[in-house]
Amino acid sequence: MPPKRKKDKVPKGRYDSSQSSVNVPLQIKEDIKRLQDKRCWLCNHRAHKILRPLQIYHIFPKAIRKRYRFVMHHKLGQIQLHNIHDRGNLIALCSICHFAYQYDQWTFFPEDTTNWRQRVEATPQIIPEYNSQRNIVFRRLLLCPDPDSKAFQDNHYKSAFTDNPTKIWSGEPGVVVLRPIPLNPPSTTAELKKTLHDFRVLQSLWVEYESQCSEEKCPICQSNNEGEDGKEDEEGDKDFGRSRKRRKGISKRQPGSTGQ
Ligand SMILES: [Zn+2]
Ligand SMILES: [Zn+2]
Repeated sequence: MPPKRKKDKVPKGRYDSSQSSVNVPLQIKEDIKRLQDKRCWLCNHRAHKILRPLQIYHIFPKAIRKRYRFVMHHKLGQIQLHNIHDRGNLIALCSICHFAYQYDQWTFFPEDTTNWRQRVEATPQIIPEYNSQRNIVFRRLLLCPDPDSKAFQDNHYKSAFTDNPTKIWSGEPGVVVLRPIPLNPPSTTAELKKTLHDFRVLQSLWVEYESQCSEEKCPICQSNNEGEDGKEDEEGDKDFGRSRKRRKGISKRQPGSTGQ
C-alpha cells in the first residue's frame, strides 16, 4: 500500500470560510473554467473531479470585512469592478494551487511591474487605463515554498514557476495589485526582492490614487445599497465613510487589509 499522503494543514487563524465561491453565479464559474480549458491557471493540470478539482477563487478576498474595502477601492477609482464576484476578480485553480495561493506560497504580478511602477509614479491618472485592460501577461512567482506541502511535492506546481513563469490572465489588473502580499517572504532571492520592492511601490501608489467613478448609473456609487448583498453593502458604505475621514491612514496600511 502506498504511504498515506500528509494533508496540508491550515495555518492557525488563517482559515476563512467566507472565501468560498458559493455565491458566484454558476454561469460565471462555468465560463471561467471553459475559458481556461478546464485547466488550472497555475499548473495547467486538467481538472479531475476527485484528485484535482478545479475551484474558483477570488483574487481580491471575499471575506466580509475585506469586501468593504472592495467597495471603497471602487469608489476611489482604484478598481472598476462592480461586484466581488465579477469575472475580473476570479480565477480557476486546482485544489493544490488554490490552497498554496490562499496561503501566500505563490503570487503573480504584471510581467512589467517595474515599468508600471514608473508610469504610475509619473502619471497616476493612468490607473483606470490599466484597470480597463484585460488579457495582460502576468509573472508567477514562488513566494514561500513549504517543503511539507502537497504543492511543493507536486511537479506540475513546481514546474509552473520554472518552465512557464509568465501567463495571460483575463481579469482586472487592479485586484492583483491591491491584493495584500506577505511582507518578508523567507526565501527571497535578489531578483524576487527587486520585484517585490517595485510591486509594493506600485501598490502604495495605487492606494493613494483617488478619483470619482466616471460611470453613469454605476451600481455601486449610485445605488441605495439594495440588491443581493444590500445589507453588506450598506455596512460597507458606513465603513467607507469612516475610512475616507482617515484616508491618509489608509494609504499607509496594507491594501485590502482590514486593519485588524
Ligand atoms: Zn494547479
Ligand atoms: Zn462606481
